[in-house]
Amino acid sequence: MCGVCGVYGHADASNLVYLGLYALQHRGQESAGIVSSDGENLERIAKMGWVQHVFEKTNFQQELPGNLAIGHVRYSTAGSSTIENAQPIVIQHKGKKIAIAHNGNIVNADVIRNELEESGSILQTNSDTEVLLHLIVKSKEKRLEDKVIDGLTQLRGDYTKPKGAATLLIMDENQIIGYRDPNGFRPLSIGTVNGGFILTSETCVFNLLNGNFIKDIDPGQLVVIDKEGPRDININSAAKIEQTKCIFEYDYFARPDSILWGKNVASFRKELGRELAREAPAKADIVIPVPDSGIYAALGFSMESGIEYDQGLMRNHYVGRTFIEPKNGIRDFGAKVKLSPIRDILEGRRVVVVDDSIVRGNTSRKVIGIMREYGGASKVHVRISFPPTQWPCFYGIDTPTRKELIASSNSIEEIRQYIGADSLSYLSEKGLEKVAKGFNGFCTECFTGIKPNLF
Ligand code: AMP
Repeated sequence: MCGVCGVYGHADASNLVYLGLYALQHRGQESAGIVSSDGENLERIAKMGWVQHVFEKTNFQQELPGNLAIGHVRYSTAGSSTIENAQPIVIQHKGKKIAIAHNGNIVNADVIRNELEESGSILQTNSDTEVLLHLIVKSKEKRLEDKVIDGLTQLRGDYTKPKGAATLLIMDENQIIGYRDPNGFRPLSIGTVNGGFILTSETCVFNLLNGNFIKDIDPGQLVVIDKEGPRDININSAAKIEQTKCIFEYDYFARPDSILWGKNVASFRKELGRELAREAPAKADIVIPVPDSGIYAALGFSMESGIEYDQGLMRNHYVGRTFIEPKNGIRDFGAKVKLSPIRDILEGRRVVVVDDSIVRGNTSRKVIGIMREYGGASKVHVRISFPPTQWPCFYGIDTPTRKELIASSNSIEEIRQYIGADSLSYLSEKGLEKVAKGFNGFCTECFTGIKPNLF
């Protein structure tokens, strides 16, 4: 997963993109970067780490000047976690610079990488984004938008190979181009800000910047923003492809205050929780979320069941990547440093704990352990607001291999035993389908194994 944000036609473009990335930080914490243009040259700052750390000393007017800029927060999927893979990537070709920021996986990147290297291209990174950038600059077309279309068309291959899944922002000295892949896996919206335009992975950015939402970019649509304003180009009109928007964005990835494809994420999650309470009720005294991912589903569960909601686990929001643990070790340190049980709330109570998903099973196992041992919960019933995650994602979400997904090879009863719950239920596929008002238009591969028809 990654987040992208671009601003065109604003004197503080890079500063606004920086704030936009702040609002998109949940989509990637590994690296952050911005490229801006003053109409003649592109400047870039990109480093490993969180947005606040990467830009803490940046003087935006001086170091990233100009009235157009694009930015990226990265969560490594394809490609390893190194500074070379931080985005946006900038390359120079025939005296012109082009920058690209990308959210998603290019499924056949390896095939194209080999072809490029065979023909003499030198690639600097092992990220699939660079592969696309090479296809764009190698195009014989003149205008950037035509080069991009040409590059994307090559990415699609001959309609028989696996294809790409990407949301892109591309810029040169005086324009920004946004693109959403024809399957529409990842979100991309356009809006206005103070006379300028914003492109963003999620609408929560409009809330922060006092921007106004205009619309979601359609799957297979390219939007070019230059001095004439924005204009759309539909590049997949020849092949009608089914949309396969990522349904896991609703359950876990997107921010609750975003409007995703016309629906607010928090409201969607509450509906998931309500449906879960109808399908899998529990005899309990209290409903608690695994913060932050389970909060809205737990609220929905509580509203539907009438069981009191409380926050019995406290998340430490200031936890970094690594900890210096005392030599002799502290029991359950890894779990407790992130989540701390509140004894006053949990002690002697029968608890329903709600979370968005179980991936490997480690989080649930630890959470249940600390709720019993340190919180004193008498019963712990686990409810998950999504069907069992059984298949890895190839379209931009970082899930482990099939073998590592606990639900791929264990029954629900085996998972219950492993995580140590008194009972365990997942939302059924039917229940999710009901909340989503049908699976038409969604990718469900992570729980059904049914591969979307890629374009
Ligand atoms: P696990 O310990 O592997 O079962 O992790 C499950 C937890 O990870 C859940 O509480 C989710 O909120 C969270 N989660 C689910 N999918 C992802 C993902 N792709 N990347 C990071 N965290 C995730």
